[in-house]
Amino acid sequence: MKVLKFGGTSVGSVDSIKQVIGILENNLANGEKIAVVFSAMGGVTNRLIEIGKMAAAGNGEYIEFLKVVEERHFVIVRGLINVKSQSSTFAAVRGLFNELGDILKGVSWIRELSTRTMDLIMSFGERLSTLVITEILKSKGIAAEFCDARQIIRTNETYGMGDVNFAVTNQLILEYFARASALQCVTGFIASTSEGITTTLGRGGSDYTASILGAALDADSIEIWTDVDGMMTADPRKVHNAFTIPSISYAEAMELSHFGAKVIYPPSLQPAFAKNITLKVLNTFNVDFEGTYVQKNANKKDFPITGISSIDEIALVNIQGSGMIGVAGISGRLFTALSHNDISVILISQASSEHSICFSIDPRDANKASEVLEKEFASEITYGYIDSITIEKNLSIIAIVGEGMKKSTGVSGKLFSVLGKNGINVVATAQGSSELNISVVISKSDLSKALNAIHGVFFHSETRSLNLFIVGVGLIGSTLLEQVRKQNKYLREEKFLNLNIAGLSNTKKMLLDPDGIGSAHWKERIDGEGVKTSLPAFVQRMIELNLPNSVFVDCTSDKDIVQYYNMLLDASISVVTPNKVANSGSYAEYISLQRTALKRGVKFLYETNVGAGLPIINTIQGLMASGDKFLKIEAILSGTLSYIFNSFGPGIKFVDVVKEAKAQGFTEPDPRDDLSGADVARKILILAREVGVPLESEDVKVAQLLPANCLAAPTVEAFFNELVISDDYFANLQSDAEANGEKLRYIATLENGKAVVELRTVNQQHPFYTLSGSDNIVSFTTERYKDRPLVIKGPGAGAEVTASGVFADIMSISSYLG
Ligand code: ADP
Ligand code: ASP
Ligand code: MG
Repeated sequence: MKVLKFGGTSVGSVDSIKQVIGILENNLANGEKIAVVFSAMGGVTNRLIEIGKMAAAGNGEYIEFLKVVEERHFVIVRGLINVKSQSSTFAAVRGLFNELGDILKGVSWIRELSTRTMDLIMSFGERLSTLVITEILKSKGIAAEFCDARQIIRTNETYGMGDVNFAVTNQLILEYFARASALQCVTGFIASTSEGITTTLGRGGSDYTASILGAALDADSIEIWTDVDGMMTADPRKVHNAFTIPSISYAEAMELSHFGAKVIYPPSLQPAFAKNITLKVLNTFNVDFEGTYVQKNANKKDFPITGISSIDEIALVNIQGSGMIGVAGISGRLFTALSHNDISVILISQASSEHSICFSIDPRDANKASEVLEKEFASEITYGYIDSITIEKNLSIIAIVGEGMKKSTGVSGKLFSVLGKNGINVVATAQGSSELNISVVISKSDLSKALNAIHGVFFHSETRSLNLFIVGVGLIGSTLLEQVRKQNKYLREEKFLNLNIAGLSNTKKMLLDPDGIGSAHWKERIDGEGVKTSLPAFVQRMIELNLPNSVFVDCTSDKDIVQYYNMLLDASISVVTPNKVANSGSYAEYISLQRTALKRGVKFLYETNVGAGLPIINTIQGLMASGDKFLKIEAILSGTLSYIFNSFGPGIKFVDVVKEAKAQGFTEPDPRDDLSGADVARKILILAREVGVPLESEDVKVAQLLPANCLAAPTVEAFFNELVISDDYFANLQSDAEANGEKLRYIATLENGKAVVELRTVNQQHPFYTLSGSDNIVSFTTERYKDRPLVIKGPGAGAEVTASGVFADIMSISSYLG
């Protein structure tokens, strides 16, 4: 014997009911003995509640709303019963709607809607759906019979959530089924008192109906057919990466559903558990899928936790007072008072100081709770033993659940660390004594981000996502996007990492899409869907989206953009950039960015500020972290100046070298922007700061390399003319160097806390002597690298290497996700 239950989502439309019939026919064809429970059509219970409230408020529009609900049922009848047999079903449906209409008319007359009447109104949902489906089955030649559960399930008078009297109920079920021969189609959710008054089992209660029946009838299994692939690691509507849990214990399923996994109604687990009946959660729309088996002992799992669930809306009550310390019985009185007033407590967390008690409840009970507690503790409040009772709203609870927690250490560490890394503040926390769950209370606005981030770290084998917001799709930005596009498949398959481009902006248009813009068609998408670029709007939207593992990638050299870095880091968004402006501004600004990143546990990475993709800053940071001391840095940090002086030699005119550099695209439009040394100065300034020397930009001494006439030239053309005129000056510099067996090099030096940028000569022993092309070179003399300096050399400019340095920074954030 099997009991099957089909939820509202499975009986909401003609197509879904066809699925249901297919499943039932299959079972019957296999000779299974079955009983089947139906919920109201999806959304109908909510509608009936609304209609009831409208009627009670005297809003006559309820009649129209009711007509819509009626029509939904007629559509099913028309769609699934042949024309000849439709009329009797229409008549029966109409009969029920007339009855409901009369009740509602009564409600609107007396303007009163008790929970008892509400139960009666809601009962029509299941009575209608079950009636219609029974008729459909009959019309298909299946011997089916409508069974009103009010005949067989007995509860007390707690309307809205009747307490089942199992002794009587089990007896009634057994007697009823002993007499029944046809396939019983049972209304879910509803029951009655011993007086015959209609009650309900609580929202989502059709699952409970199935479990009560299954247990009473000693069924082999109870099947809960719904619209998802079983119980999943998280609500798939909130976490796209959620996947099916093949096997779960009753206790785990209970915790998950208690904390919001509505796929199964918590009380339904009890009867199945008591009789050790396997409960299966299956998908009506994916019939062959195995779904989830809920049993006494779940199979071993690959992950430290089984699932994550959440309650979107809770209120947190906090009672605080010095007079509470050591006073026995306060919590006893507190929770008794709440329970006498039917206020159920979802989670309790008491501070170990006993100074305060904090618990969460349904926000709809908040006002009542406040009244009840103020009354209960009136004298303690008067005497100042209790200082305050506060209620905080707009909060959510997340619970991570799993038997595996008992055995594995570090689960809570991992939970709090991922929340911390994503800047999510934990308002309260509790760990069940069974060690089956850890729950945290967080701000409602962080819920989606928290769920996804937690899911990402605990369910490792699935792909983790980094959400990238890229500003500036010029040469570096577009090269980066191309590199991401090419590498995506490898990263996803080999590293389980998804680089999700969640935002893009060029100077004209911007586009944000949390589901991903895609690195392949970003141009078309930004052109087609983008809106006018506004940096403040981009930043604000990015913060509002609140996606986990967000990274802001600034591929511009814009001055204004850096004002947002601090705000972004403070919102727990990492920043990656080749843009030097922030780090070469004031020292205070530089240090404040470092501190904010540290405080928020996010990254601020800028390897490409100096020497493009060469590992210069990472090397410094590694040496500094491991306690090395920097004695001297010498560096050639401009690809342009490197090229110019590497090419300049005997018999070659300086002006021709500069012209050639410009023709090759190595220089800025006005080559004096390179030759001024300003850019090199900014780079050595950043390196100085990295090794702990707090310089300001004016502290860097830049020796002018150009004669005054060249600097004063009004145009680029005039500048080249002046270079011709000054040819002797450069030729002399060159020949003097040559005479000493040395070469000209444009070098930045940091030594004894002083930074200098100047044209120098180096001899053959110097590591910079043999430099060629446009390479950059850095030499670090440190306490550990004293005799022979540590030298890093290679291409220090160009879109490919710069983009790949930015990419490497992004990747280093992904490895830090754990
Ligand atoms: P039914 O109408 O079949 O009773 P419900 O809406 O009551 O369906 O429950 C199914 C829904 O539960 C799913 O659509 C899903 O959004 C939600 N849900 C929440 N948590 C989970 C979870 N952990 N696994 C599966 N579904 C979940
Ligand atoms: N129809 C009821 C509800 O919506 C019961 C159920 O669907 O399980 O709560
Ligand atoms: Mg349900």
